[in-house]
Amino acid sequence: MVAMWTVKVVSLGVVGLSLSLELLFWLFSRRRSERVTNKVLFFPSKVACVEHIFSPTLPHSHVCSLPHGVDTSFSRLLRYILSACSSLDLCLFSFSNMDLSRAVLLLHSRGVTIRVLTDRVYSAISGSQIGVLRKAGICVRCDVSAVHMHHKFAVVDGRMLITGSLNWTLTAVQSNMENIIITEEPDLVQPFVKEFCRLWGLNDSAQDLNSVTD
Ligand SMILES: [Zn+2]
Repeated sequence: MVAMWTVKVVSLGVVGLSLSLELLFWLFSRRRSERVTNKVLFFPSKVACVEHIFSPTLPHSHVCSLPHGVDTSFSRLLRYILSACSSLDLCLFSFSNMDLSRAVLLLHSRGVTIRVLTDRVYSAISGSQIGVLRKAGICVRCDVSAVHMHHKFAVVDGRMLITGSLNWTLTAVQSNMENIIITEEPDLVQPFVKEFCRLWGLNDSAQDLNSVTD
C-alpha cells in the first residue's frame, strides 16, 4: 500500500516537474521572441512624407503635398536602416532611391562605418546613387564577376538583417510588389554577415578609390 502511494506521489511529482519545465520554456521563448526583431514588410508602400524621419522636429517652414504622420512600409524600412549605430553593410543590385541614399549619407555623417557592395553594370546606370556615395567618401566595391551581383540585403550593426526582393529604387518602393524580412535571429543574420565578408574580400580593394562610376 505504502509502495503504491509512493509510486503515485512520485509520478505526480514527475508530471508536475515536466509541466513546470514546459511553462518555463514557454515563458522563455515568449520573452525571447519579444526581444528579437522579426518583421515582414510588403511593397508597394503608401506614398507619404518621410521628412520627419530625417528631422524628428519638422520645421514649421516644411511644406509638401504628401500625406504626413502616416506609418508606411517605407518609413519603417528607413527607421530600421537609421537605427545603425556602428556599421551598415549593403549588398545591393540597384541603388537609385534618393531617400535611402539620404539615409546612408546621414549615417555616414554620424560616423557609422558603411560598406557598399554593388553590381558593376547597375552602379553606372543613370540615377544610380553609387557615385554620390563614393564622392561622400563611403567605401564602395563593385562586383568584378561576369554575372550580376543580384543580392538585395543589408546588415545593420552586424545584428540585424534586412533582406528580400526589394531593390533600393523608387519603382521598387512605390510601384512593385515586393517583400522584405527584417530579422535579428542569429541563425539567419550570421550566414549573411559571413557571405558579405566573403564577397567583400573577393573584390579588389583597389576599387575603393577608383571612381569609374562617378
Ligand atoms: Zn512633407
